[in-house]
Amino acid sequence: MYKPEHVKTSPDFPIPDTMRAWVLGDPDQLTLTKKPVPVPKRAEVLVRIDAVAICATDLEIIHHGPPAMIQGGQPFNKNFTPGHEYMGTVAALGPGVDEYKIGERVTVEIHAGCGQCKRCREGMYTACHNYGLNYGDVDKGHRANGFTTDGGFAEYAVNSINTLVRVSDEMSDEEATLVVTAGTAMYGLTELGGLVAGEPSAANASADDPALYRAKMTPVTTRTAPRPTNRDLFMMGYRICGRAPCAGRVLSPWRG
Ligand SMILES: [Zn+2]
Ligand SMILES: [Zn+2]
Repeated sequence: MYKPEHVKTSPDFPIPDTMRAWVLGDPDQLTLTKKPVPVPKRAEVLVRIDAVAICATDLEIIHHGPPAMIQGGQPFNKNFTPGHEYMGTVAALGPGVDEYKIGERVTVEIHAGCGQCKRCREGMYTACHNYGLNYGDVDKGHRANGFTTDGGFAEYAVNSINTLVRVSDEMSDEEATLVVTAGTAMYGLTELGGLVAGEPSAANASADDPALYRAKMTPVTTRTAPRPTNRDLFMMGYRICGRAPCAGRVLSPWRG
């Protein structure tokens, strides 16, 4: 039975030594196989995966490789398991973890930054300068599950505590797999000064109203906030990149 040294487990959540996992072989080749259940290290937990979404990026990875990067190269034939939009239950705690309890429902973010590089220190850890340098002998602390480390097309995955979000009981497993994706869109809208949670908009409806669903499925053509000025874009680029010149490149959705 799974009982690695310094890892906390619970009899309520027995963990097998091996798990089923999909593994990427050649392009477009996914094979169901067995792997050892991974072991959480310091500041990491083991998540029992209860639901996983399949993202278009997963299909890109399976077909082309990038943005997945394993050992600094293409992800093919490296015993790599894709999948980055998953949720589950905390099943084991790595050494020293007391932020989460075994049995808690969580959904996951993809990236845990190295925490040391310039971008990580500015909070831009999804663009960590040590991106992908986390495998084997080049552990710099960055990991992106399903991109540079094993992901969610398996029964268990290891996650940094910084990538976990607790899920309320009211939210279904399936919905929880999309929390981070929805959060990405919300972040983008907020940063662009467009739609802000709580403000009136074209999709204004109560949460239990089917109109909300219809509105969400309908392109929003009415903007409630003024179009950003060049200076807004400049300042936003400065916040994101820490320097001015990228403002026009990164933030040009209205410039074609
Ligand atoms: Zn995705
Ligand atoms: Zn970093």
